[in-house]
Amino acid sequence: MCTNPRDRFQALFGKSPEEAKFFWTGGPVEVAERTTFASLFSGVTAFDTEEGLVLVDSGLRQFAPTLASFVRQQSKAPVHTALYTHGHVDHAFGLAAFLLPDQASPRVIAHRNVVARFERYERTPRHNAALNERQFDGSMPAEREVFDTFGFPEYPPTVLFEDTLAFEVGGVRFEVRHARGETDDHAWLFCPSRGVLCPGDLLIWGVPNAGNPQKAQRYPWDWARALRDMAALEPSSICPGHGGPVIDDPALCRTMLTETAEFLETIVERTLALLEDGSPPHVDIVRRLELPRSDAPWLQPVYDEAEFIARNVIRFYGGWYTGRPSELKPSPRAELAAEIVALAGGIEPVLARIASLLESGDHALASHLADYALEAAPTAEAVRQAVAHVYERRAAAESSLMTVNLYRAAAAYATAGRPFA
Ligand SMILES: [Zn+2]
Repeated sequence: MCTNPRDRFQALFGKSPEEAKFFWTGGPVEVAERTTFASLFSGVTAFDTEEGLVLVDSGLRQFAPTLASFVRQQSKAPVHTALYTHGHVDHAFGLAAFLLPDQASPRVIAHRNVVARFERYERTPRHNAALNERQFDGSMPAEREVFDTFGFPEYPPTVLFEDTLAFEVGGVRFEVRHARGETDDHAWLFCPSRGVLCPGDLLIWGVPNAGNPQKAQRYPWDWARALRDMAALEPSSICPGHGGPVIDDPALCRTMLTETAEFLETIVERTLALLEDGSPPHVDIVRRLELPRSDAPWLQPVYDEAEFIARNVIRFYGGWYTGRPSELKPSPRAELAAEIVALAGGIEPVLARIASLLESGDHALASHLADYALEAAPTAEAVRQAVAHVYERRAAAESSLMTVNLYRAAAAYATAGRPFA
Protein backbone atom coordinates (compact mmCIF):
# COMPACT_ATOMS: atom_id res chain seq x y z
CA MET A 1 0.00 0.00 0.00
CA CYS A 2 1.26 3.52 -0.81
CA THR A 3 1.92 5.68 2.22
CA ASN A 4 2.29 9.01 0.42
CA PRO A 5 -1.16 10.68 0.50
CA ARG A 6 -0.84 11.88 -3.08
CA ASP A 7 0.02 8.39 -4.37
CA ARG A 8 -2.69 6.88 -2.21
CA PHE A 9 -5.22 9.32 -3.61
CA GLN A 10 -4.11 8.53 -7.14
CA ALA A 11 -4.50 4.82 -6.46
CA LEU A 12 -7.95 5.27 -4.93
CA PHE A 13 -9.52 7.58 -7.44
CA GLY A 14 -7.44 7.08 -10.57
CA LYS A 15 -6.82 10.80 -10.77
CA SER A 16 -4.56 13.32 -9.14
CA PRO A 17 -5.59 15.09 -5.94
CA GLU A 18 -5.41 18.35 -7.86
CA GLU A 19 -8.22 17.11 -10.10
CA ALA A 20 -10.23 15.82 -7.20
CA LYS A 21 -10.14 18.70 -4.75
CA PHE A 22 -12.76 21.32 -4.01
CA PHE A 23 -14.73 21.08 -7.26
CA TRP A 24 -14.91 17.28 -7.43
CA THR A 25 -18.19 16.24 -8.98
CA GLY A 26 -19.48 12.72 -9.16
CA GLY A 27 -21.41 9.83 -7.74
CA PRO A 28 -22.73 7.59 -6.60
CA VAL A 29 -19.63 6.43 -4.72
CA GLU A 30 -19.91 3.69 -2.11
CA VAL A 31 -17.74 4.92 0.77
CA ALA A 32 -18.68 2.11 3.16
CA GLU A 33 -21.28 -0.64 3.46
CA ARG A 34 -24.67 0.75 2.27
CA THR A 35 -23.29 4.30 2.39
CA THR A 36 -23.35 6.47 -0.72
CA PHE A 37 -21.68 9.80 -1.43
CA ALA A 38 -22.29 12.16 -4.32
CA SER A 39 -21.22 15.75 -4.97
CA LEU A 40 -22.23 18.49 -7.35
CA PHE A 41 -20.61 21.63 -5.97
CA SER A 42 -21.59 20.42 -2.46
CA GLY A 43 -21.72 16.86 -1.15
CA VAL A 44 -24.54 14.61 0.04
CA THR A 45 -24.19 11.34 1.99
CA ALA A 46 -26.91 8.70 2.27
CA PHE A 47 -26.73 5.94 4.91
CA ASP A 48 -29.09 3.13 3.93
CA THR A 49 -30.67 1.32 6.91
CA GLU A 50 -33.52 -1.14 7.53
CA GLU A 51 -35.76 1.80 8.48
CA GLY A 52 -34.85 4.10 5.61
CA LEU A 53 -32.16 6.60 4.64
CA VAL A 54 -30.23 8.90 6.91
CA LEU A 55 -29.29 11.77 4.64
CA VAL A 56 -26.53 14.25 5.45
CA ASP A 57 -27.08 17.55 3.63
CA SER A 58 -29.18 18.09 0.52
CA GLY A 59 -27.26 20.27 -1.98
CA LEU A 60 -28.22 23.45 -3.76
CA ARG A 61 -31.89 23.41 -4.72
CA GLN A 62 -31.05 23.55 -8.44
CA PHE A 63 -28.54 20.66 -8.19
CA ALA A 64 -30.54 18.49 -5.74
CA PRO A 65 -32.44 16.50 -8.43
CA THR A 66 -29.12 15.33 -9.92
CA LEU A 67 -27.70 14.49 -6.49
CA ALA A 68 -30.92 12.64 -5.63
CA SER A 69 -30.70 10.62 -8.88
CA PHE A 70 -27.20 9.49 -7.81
CA VAL A 71 -28.50 8.42 -4.40
CA ARG A 72 -31.52 6.70 -5.93
CA GLN A 73 -29.25 4.51 -8.10
CA GLN A 74 -28.18 2.86 -4.83
CA SER A 75 -31.35 2.82 -2.73
CA LYS A 76 -35.10 3.29 -3.16
CA ALA A 77 -35.72 3.61 0.59
CA PRO A 78 -37.59 6.64 1.95
CA VAL A 79 -35.64 9.36 3.76
CA HIS A 80 -36.13 8.63 7.45
CA THR A 81 -33.89 11.38 8.86
CA ALA A 82 -31.99 14.29 7.33
CA LEU A 83 -29.20 16.28 8.97
CA TYR A 84 -28.30 19.76 7.78
CA THR A 85 -24.64 20.28 8.68
CA HIS A 86 -25.42 24.01 8.59
CA GLY A 87 -27.95 26.38 7.09
CA HIS A 88 -26.08 27.52 3.98
CA VAL A 89 -27.92 27.52 0.68
CA ASP A 90 -25.84 24.63 -0.69
CA HIS A 91 -26.65 22.29 2.22
CA ALA A 92 -30.14 22.89 3.60
CA PHE A 93 -32.36 23.74 0.64
CA GLY A 94 -32.53 20.65 -1.60
CA LEU A 95 -34.26 18.02 0.56
CA ALA A 96 -37.54 17.88 -1.43
CA ALA A 97 -35.75 16.25 -4.39
CA PHE A 98 -34.69 13.26 -2.25
CA LEU A 99 -38.16 12.40 -0.89
CA LEU A 100 -40.27 9.62 -2.38
CA PRO A 101 -43.67 10.80 -3.66
CA ASP A 102 -45.68 8.92 -1.04
CA GLN A 103 -43.36 9.11 1.93
CA ALA A 104 -44.02 10.85 5.24
CA SER A 105 -42.08 14.03 5.95
CA PRO A 106 -38.70 13.03 7.37
CA ARG A 107 -37.24 14.08 10.67
CA VAL A 108 -34.83 16.97 10.00
CA ILE A 109 -32.02 17.58 12.49
CA ALA A 110 -29.92 20.74 12.74
CA HIS A 111 -28.10 22.83 15.30
CA ARG A 112 -30.41 25.30 17.02
CA ASN A 113 -28.58 28.33 15.56
CA VAL A 114 -29.82 27.54 12.04
CA VAL A 115 -33.11 29.18 12.97
CA ALA A 116 -31.43 32.54 13.64
CA ARG A 117 -29.56 32.13 10.34
CA PHE A 118 -32.76 31.62 8.33
CA GLU A 119 -34.24 34.65 10.09
CA ARG A 120 -31.19 36.67 8.98
CA TYR A 121 -31.77 35.48 5.42
CA GLU A 122 -35.38 36.69 5.66
CA ARG A 123 -34.18 40.06 6.95
CA THR A 124 -31.56 40.61 4.20
CA PRO A 125 -32.58 38.64 1.08
CA ARG A 126 -31.31 41.15 -1.49
CA HIS A 127 -28.04 41.70 0.33
CA ASN A 128 -27.50 37.95 0.50
CA ALA A 129 -28.28 37.49 -3.18
CA ALA A 130 -25.89 40.33 -4.05
CA LEU A 131 -22.95 39.04 -2.01
CA ASN A 132 -23.45 35.53 -3.35
CA GLU A 133 -23.47 36.84 -6.92
CA ARG A 134 -20.19 38.64 -6.25
CA GLN A 135 -18.69 35.58 -4.57
CA PHE A 136 -19.87 32.83 -6.91
CA ASP A 137 -20.54 34.58 -10.19
CA GLY A 138 -18.07 37.47 -10.09
CA SER A 139 -20.86 39.77 -11.19
CA MET A 140 -22.73 42.83 -10.07
CA PRO A 141 -26.12 42.19 -8.44
CA ALA A 142 -29.07 42.04 -10.81
CA GLU A 143 -26.84 41.51 -13.84
CA ARG A 144 -28.53 38.17 -13.96
CA GLU A 145 -30.36 36.11 -11.39
CA VAL A 146 -28.07 33.42 -10.03
CA PHE A 147 -29.37 33.05 -6.52
CA ASP A 148 -32.98 32.99 -5.47
CA THR A 149 -33.73 35.06 -2.47
CA PHE A 150 -34.32 32.70 0.41
CA GLY A 151 -35.37 32.62 4.05
CA PHE A 152 -36.36 29.27 5.58
CA PRO A 153 -35.96 26.06 3.53
CA GLU A 154 -39.01 24.14 2.34
CA TYR A 155 -38.22 21.51 4.98
CA PRO A 156 -37.05 23.38 8.08
CA PRO A 157 -35.51 21.45 10.97
CA THR A 158 -37.89 19.49 13.19
CA VAL A 159 -35.28 18.56 15.81
CA LEU A 160 -32.82 21.16 17.10
CA PHE A 161 -29.85 20.27 19.28
CA GLU A 162 -27.36 22.22 21.37
CA ASP A 163 -24.01 20.40 21.82
CA THR A 164 -24.38 16.72 20.96
CA LEU A 165 -27.05 14.37 19.72
CA ALA A 166 -26.97 10.60 19.25
CA PHE A 167 -29.68 8.63 17.48
CA GLU A 168 -30.32 5.24 15.91
CA VAL A 169 -32.12 4.43 12.68
CA GLY A 170 -32.59 0.79 11.64
CA GLY A 171 -30.14 -0.32 14.31
CA VAL A 172 -27.37 1.99 13.05
CA ARG A 173 -26.01 4.53 15.51
CA PHE A 174 -25.17 8.11 14.50
CA GLU A 175 -23.36 10.70 16.61
CA VAL A 176 -23.75 14.40 15.89
CA ARG A 177 -21.74 17.22 17.45
CA HIS A 178 -21.91 20.97 17.20
CA ALA A 179 -18.82 23.09 16.53
CA ARG A 180 -18.49 26.72 15.59
CA GLY A 181 -16.33 26.90 12.49
CA GLU A 182 -17.41 28.16 9.09
CA THR A 183 -20.65 29.07 10.81
CA ASP A 184 -22.04 29.24 14.33
CA ASP A 185 -24.65 26.60 13.44
CA HIS A 186 -22.34 23.83 12.27
CA ALA A 187 -22.90 20.13 12.98
CA TRP A 188 -20.81 17.13 12.02
CA LEU A 189 -21.77 13.46 12.05
CA PHE A 190 -19.92 10.23 12.71
CA CYS A 191 -21.28 6.73 12.09
CA PRO A 192 -19.06 4.45 14.26
CA SER A 193 -20.16 1.10 12.82
CA ARG A 194 -19.32 2.20 9.27
CA GLY A 195 -16.35 4.40 10.17
CA VAL A 196 -17.79 7.27 8.13
CA LEU A 197 -17.27 10.92 9.04
CA CYS A 198 -19.42 13.68 7.54
CA PRO A 199 -17.63 16.89 8.57
CA GLY A 200 -19.87 19.24 6.57
CA ASP A 201 -17.89 22.28 5.47
CA LEU A 202 -15.34 21.80 8.25
CA LEU A 203 -13.36 19.89 5.58
CA ILE A 204 -13.61 20.94 1.92
CA TRP A 205 -10.41 20.00 0.02
CA GLY A 206 -9.02 23.49 0.28
CA VAL A 207 -7.95 26.17 2.72
CA PRO A 208 -10.87 26.29 5.19
CA ASN A 209 -13.55 28.85 4.44
CA ALA A 210 -12.72 30.63 7.68
CA GLY A 211 -11.96 34.00 6.18
CA ASN A 212 -14.73 34.81 3.69
CA PRO A 213 -14.51 38.61 3.16
CA GLN A 214 -18.25 39.24 2.85
CA LYS A 215 -19.78 36.97 5.43
CA ALA A 216 -20.51 36.69 9.13
CA GLN A 217 -17.89 35.87 11.75
CA ARG A 218 -16.05 32.56 11.46
CA TYR A 219 -14.29 30.68 14.29
CA PRO A 220 -10.99 29.08 13.20
CA TRP A 221 -9.96 28.22 16.79
CA ASP A 222 -13.12 26.17 17.49
CA TRP A 223 -12.84 24.76 13.99
CA ALA A 224 -9.35 23.37 14.69
CA ARG A 225 -10.56 21.79 17.94
CA ALA A 226 -13.44 20.10 16.10
CA LEU A 227 -11.04 18.68 13.49
CA ARG A 228 -8.93 17.20 16.29
CA ASP A 229 -12.08 15.74 17.90
CA MET A 230 -12.91 14.14 14.55
CA ALA A 231 -9.40 12.71 14.19
CA ALA A 232 -9.69 11.18 17.67
CA LEU A 233 -12.63 9.09 16.45
CA GLU A 234 -10.34 7.49 13.83
CA PRO A 235 -12.69 7.56 10.85
CA SER A 236 -11.82 5.39 7.85
CA SER A 237 -13.87 7.34 5.30
CA ILE A 238 -14.72 11.02 4.95
CA CYS A 239 -17.63 12.50 3.01
CA PRO A 240 -16.76 16.23 2.91
CA GLY A 241 -18.99 19.24 2.39
CA HIS A 242 -17.14 19.95 -0.87
CA GLY A 243 -14.74 17.81 -2.89
CA GLY A 244 -14.28 14.08 -3.29
CA PRO A 245 -14.60 11.43 -0.60
CA VAL A 246 -11.81 9.58 1.20
CA ILE A 247 -12.62 5.88 1.15
CA ASP A 248 -11.37 3.34 3.65
CA ASP A 249 -8.07 5.05 4.38
CA PRO A 250 -7.77 5.88 8.10
CA ALA A 251 -4.24 7.25 7.69
CA LEU A 252 -5.27 9.75 5.01
CA CYS A 253 -8.31 10.76 7.09
CA ARG A 254 -6.12 11.45 10.11
CA THR A 255 -3.54 13.37 8.08
CA MET A 256 -6.13 15.60 6.43
CA LEU A 257 -7.87 16.38 9.72
CA THR A 258 -4.77 17.07 11.79
CA GLU A 259 -2.91 19.05 9.10
CA THR A 260 -5.96 21.26 8.57
CA ALA A 261 -6.28 21.79 12.33
CA GLU A 262 -2.62 22.77 12.56
CA PHE A 263 -2.97 25.17 9.62
CA LEU A 264 -5.80 27.01 11.38
CA GLU A 265 -4.06 26.99 14.77
CA THR A 266 -0.93 28.50 13.23
CA ILE A 267 -2.85 31.40 11.68
CA VAL A 268 -4.71 32.10 14.93
CA GLU A 269 -1.57 32.00 17.08
CA ARG A 270 0.51 34.20 14.76
CA THR A 271 -2.29 36.74 14.33
CA LEU A 272 -2.83 37.02 18.07
CA ALA A 273 0.92 37.38 18.64
CA LEU A 274 0.96 40.39 16.29
CA LEU A 275 -2.13 41.90 17.93
CA GLU A 276 -0.28 41.61 21.23
CA ASP A 277 2.76 43.29 19.73
CA GLY A 278 1.62 46.91 19.86
CA SER A 279 -1.95 46.46 18.54
CA PRO A 280 -1.04 47.79 15.08
CA PRO A 281 -3.60 48.79 12.42
CA HIS A 282 -5.36 45.81 10.83
CA VAL A 283 -3.75 45.96 7.44
CA ASP A 284 -0.27 46.21 8.98
CA ILE A 285 -0.93 42.99 10.89
CA VAL A 286 -1.92 41.24 7.68
CA ARG A 287 1.19 42.50 5.90
CA ARG A 288 3.53 41.45 8.74
CA LEU A 289 1.98 38.02 9.12
CA GLU A 290 3.91 34.98 7.99
CA LEU A 291 1.14 32.79 6.65
CA PRO A 292 1.41 28.99 6.69
CA ARG A 293 1.72 27.23 3.36
CA SER A 294 1.25 23.59 2.54
CA ASP A 295 1.83 21.39 -0.48
CA ALA A 296 -1.02 19.12 0.58
CA PRO A 297 -3.83 18.98 -1.98
CA TRP A 298 -6.36 19.58 0.82
CA LEU A 299 -4.77 22.87 1.86
CA GLN A 300 -4.56 24.81 -1.38
CA PRO A 301 -6.26 28.25 -1.66
CA VAL A 302 -8.90 27.18 -4.15
CA TYR A 303 -11.88 28.76 -2.38
CA ASP A 304 -10.78 30.88 0.59
CA GLU A 305 -7.26 31.85 1.68
CA ALA A 306 -5.08 32.18 4.76
CA GLU A 307 -4.84 35.99 4.69
CA PHE A 308 -8.60 36.30 5.00
CA ILE A 309 -8.65 33.89 7.94
CA ALA A 310 -6.28 36.22 9.79
CA ARG A 311 -8.71 39.07 9.02
CA ASN A 312 -11.49 37.12 10.72
CA VAL A 313 -9.33 36.58 13.80
CA ILE A 314 -8.61 40.31 13.91
CA ARG A 315 -12.31 41.13 13.50
CA PHE A 316 -13.29 38.86 16.40
CA TYR A 317 -10.64 40.20 18.76
CA GLY A 318 -10.49 43.76 17.48
CA GLY A 319 -13.80 45.06 16.20
CA TRP A 320 -14.20 46.98 12.99
CA TYR A 321 -11.90 49.94 13.63
CA THR A 322 -8.92 49.59 11.31
CA GLY A 323 -6.56 51.53 13.56
CA ARG A 324 -6.14 54.36 11.04
CA PRO A 325 -7.50 57.51 12.76
CA SER A 326 -8.83 58.98 9.50
CA GLU A 327 -10.96 55.88 9.05
CA LEU A 328 -12.78 56.24 12.38
CA LYS A 329 -15.09 58.92 10.97
CA PRO A 330 -13.95 59.25 7.36
CA SER A 331 -14.99 61.84 4.81
CA PRO A 332 -17.14 60.64 1.89
CA ARG A 333 -14.96 58.61 -0.44
CA ALA A 334 -15.91 60.71 -3.46
CA GLU A 335 -14.55 63.83 -1.69
CA LEU A 336 -11.33 62.09 -0.69
CA ALA A 337 -10.93 60.71 -4.22
CA ALA A 338 -11.48 64.16 -5.75
CA GLU A 339 -8.82 65.57 -3.40
CA ILE A 340 -6.26 62.90 -4.34
CA VAL A 341 -6.93 63.32 -8.05
CA ALA A 342 -6.60 67.13 -7.76
CA LEU A 343 -3.28 66.74 -5.91
CA ALA A 344 -2.09 64.44 -8.70
CA GLY A 345 -2.86 67.13 -11.25
CA GLY A 346 -5.98 65.55 -12.72
CA ILE A 347 -7.30 62.17 -13.76
CA GLU A 348 -4.86 61.69 -16.67
CA PRO A 349 -1.72 61.42 -14.51
CA VAL A 350 -3.59 59.05 -12.18
CA LEU A 351 -4.52 56.78 -15.10
CA ALA A 352 -0.94 56.93 -16.39
CA ARG A 353 0.42 55.98 -12.99
CA ILE A 354 -2.08 53.10 -12.73
CA ALA A 355 -0.84 51.81 -16.09
CA SER A 356 2.81 52.00 -15.06
CA LEU A 357 2.15 50.29 -11.72
CA LEU A 358 0.33 47.50 -13.51
CA GLU A 359 3.23 47.22 -15.92
CA SER A 360 5.69 46.88 -13.04
CA GLY A 361 3.51 44.22 -11.38
CA ASP A 362 2.35 46.24 -8.35
CA HIS A 363 -1.29 45.34 -8.70
CA ALA A 364 -2.17 46.25 -5.12
CA LEU A 365 -0.92 49.82 -5.38
CA ALA A 366 -2.53 50.17 -8.81
CA SER A 367 -5.84 49.10 -7.21
CA HIS A 368 -5.74 51.87 -4.59
CA LEU A 369 -5.31 54.49 -7.31
CA ALA A 370 -7.95 52.75 -9.44
CA ASP A 371 -10.49 53.01 -6.62
CA TYR A 372 -9.78 56.74 -6.24
CA ALA A 373 -10.04 57.26 -10.00
CA LEU A 374 -13.43 55.55 -10.24
CA GLU A 375 -14.78 57.29 -7.15
CA ALA A 376 -13.65 60.68 -8.47
CA ALA A 377 -14.86 60.20 -12.05
CA PRO A 378 -17.35 57.32 -12.27
CA THR A 379 -18.93 58.58 -15.49
CA ALA A 380 -15.68 58.88 -17.50
CA GLU A 381 -15.46 56.00 -19.97
CA ALA A 382 -11.64 55.95 -19.97
CA VAL A 383 -11.64 55.67 -16.18
CA ARG A 384 -14.21 52.86 -16.21
CA GLN A 385 -12.18 50.88 -18.71
CA ALA A 386 -8.88 51.45 -16.94
CA VAL A 387 -10.27 50.41 -13.57
CA ALA A 388 -12.04 47.36 -15.01
CA HIS A 389 -8.72 46.39 -16.59
CA VAL A 390 -6.92 46.63 -13.23
CA TYR A 391 -9.39 44.24 -11.59
CA GLU A 392 -9.47 41.84 -14.53
CA ARG A 393 -5.68 41.63 -14.24
CA ARG A 394 -5.94 41.04 -10.51
CA ALA A 395 -8.56 38.32 -10.99
CA ALA A 396 -6.33 36.58 -13.53
CA ALA A 397 -3.42 36.54 -11.05
CA GLU A 398 -5.33 34.93 -8.16
CA SER A 399 -6.25 31.32 -7.34
CA SER A 400 -9.01 31.38 -4.72
CA LEU A 401 -12.58 31.47 -6.00
CA MET A 402 -13.52 34.27 -3.61
CA THR A 403 -10.65 36.54 -4.55
CA VAL A 404 -11.01 35.89 -8.27
CA ASN A 405 -14.74 36.55 -8.20
CA LEU A 406 -14.59 39.63 -5.97
CA TYR A 407 -12.08 41.15 -8.40
CA ARG A 408 -14.23 40.11 -11.37
CA ALA A 409 -17.21 41.74 -9.63
CA ALA A 410 -15.12 44.88 -9.06
CA ALA A 411 -14.41 44.97 -12.81
CA ALA A 412 -18.14 44.64 -13.49
CA TYR A 413 -18.91 47.50 -11.10
CA ALA A 414 -16.23 49.65 -12.75
CA THR A 415 -17.57 48.94 -16.22
CA ALA A 416 -20.98 50.10 -15.02
CA GLY A 417 -19.47 53.22 -13.45
CA ARG A 418 -20.47 52.13 -9.96
CA PRO A 419 -17.66 52.36 -7.40
CA PHE A 420 -17.53 49.13 -5.39
CA ALA A 421 -18.10 50.93 -2.13
ZN1 LIG B 1 -20.87 24.51 1.51
